[in-house]
Amino acid sequence: MTVRLRVAPSPTGHLHVGTARAALFNWLYARHTGGSFILRIDDTDRERSTVEFEEDILDSLRWLGLDWDEGVGVGGPHGDYRQSSRYERYRDVASSLVESGVAYYDNRTPDELEALRRRAVAEKLHPAHYIRRPATAVTEGAIRLSVPQEEAVVFDDLVRGRVSFEARDIDDFVILRTDGTPTYHLASTVDDVDYGITHVARGEDLLPSTPKHIVLTRALGASQPEYAHLPLLFGTDGKKLSKRHGATSLSLYRDEGYLPEAVFNYLSLLGWSIDGDRTIFSRDEAVAVFDLVDVSRNPAVFDPDKLAWLNGEYIRAMEPSDFTRSARPHVERAVGRQLHEEEWAKFDTVSALVQERTRLLPEAGDQVVFLFEDFAEYDPAAWDKVMTKEGVAGILSSARDRLTKVDPWDAGTIETALRGMLEEMGLGAAKGLQPLRVAITGSSVSPPLFESMAALGRDKTLERVERAIGQLSGTG
Ligand code: GLU
Repeated sequence: MTVRLRVAPSPTGHLHVGTARAALFNWLYARHTGGSFILRIDDTDRERSTVEFEEDILDSLRWLGLDWDEGVGVGGPHGDYRQSSRYERYRDVASSLVESGVAYYDNRTPDELEALRRRAVAEKLHPAHYIRRPATAVTEGAIRLSVPQEEAVVFDDLVRGRVSFEARDIDDFVILRTDGTPTYHLASTVDDVDYGITHVARGEDLLPSTPKHIVLTRALGASQPEYAHLPLLFGTDGKKLSKRHGATSLSLYRDEGYLPEAVFNYLSLLGWSIDGDRTIFSRDEAVAVFDLVDVSRNPAVFDPDKLAWLNGEYIRAMEPSDFTRSARPHVERAVGRQLHEEEWAKFDTVSALVQERTRLLPEAGDQVVFLFEDFAEYDPAAWDKVMTKEGVAGILSSARDRLTKVDPWDAGTIETALRGMLEEMGLGAAKGLQPLRVAITGSSVSPPLFESMAALGRDKTLERVERAIGQLSGTG
């Protein structure tokens, strides 16, 4: 059997991290088994689906490196792979199910159905109980599937184990609406059957739909796929993941400078682990061992801080030349203009130090703006914390006198001069050097001080120390 899996996002929003995680697990299993991974677009909600969201979904999946073998954007033997292009097929299937007697037309009004539901509730039965085939057949209205009542719907979910639903708790659900549009249950099941899907791995929120899909699959005379319902994602506060917990769309992570490898690694940890507590592993390592049966059924916690930490680990592991290349657009964005050759040479002298201090690529830009532009203002928090202390003016003037004599102007010589000053003035490094950092960068975060000064150059360094002295004496 060739394994065939799909992910089926609805283009009614950006690619959500939950759907990205589902896509990732499907992709991993397809790659592990040498099967196919298919991208279907569930765009039957015509009012809320947009081309822009569809593009965002495709871009985000590509960015994550989840290439698909068939589907929207790449084509394949089943045509378009958008549900909106298959309405005729869904109508044909619904009609043939009516013809064969397993589905029926229903023109009861919402009020009539509501009365049936109320009756069920009054009798303490599942509301589904009374939504059954009416005594008189009609030839118009919505089409419902007649759910066989003889046996329970039981299946072995690859993640959750045996799952069982009482047939009488499943109503005769609508498959085709009065206006001829398919419901999710019909479109999804027909596609899974037509595309030969062998494994349906999707979020646990869809578990209540699965017995309906199973009876529909049987009514179609098709063989039932394996199901794997993936654990839901929660925030660190234990509540269902939502925008309150931080960004939930993949494209925002891309735009914030996250590395696709780090996001891939992090998403794969949401309900799965490669080997005990190991958190960092490559795509290939995951492909080599991934199996849907190893997915945990416990809720998974999506923690943006852990993702940022992991991203930092990936940044530190980058080849220095790759880091420099990836950081460049962020540096230019932070500086607000393009840099020229000599400026890039300056950046190169601190690039390795910046790499060590970066969790997200935009931070690389923020750390080096001071090298290329005079800052307009001192960061108020840094100023209050460092520059308002006793003795700062004296430290700055003494540093200025020493720095004037530094020769050659390089990090080592600058360090010797400033350490000499610390010793002579009886100061610790924090107290004696922090004012210099604020003076030359305007803030308290930057690459190490001596290298920063070396890259900035003697003239600019002295000018900024002078500026801080002026500011302190009220003349700046
Ligand atoms: N379109 C559904 C969603 O985005 C997924 C349907 C499925 O996987 O069966 O939630």
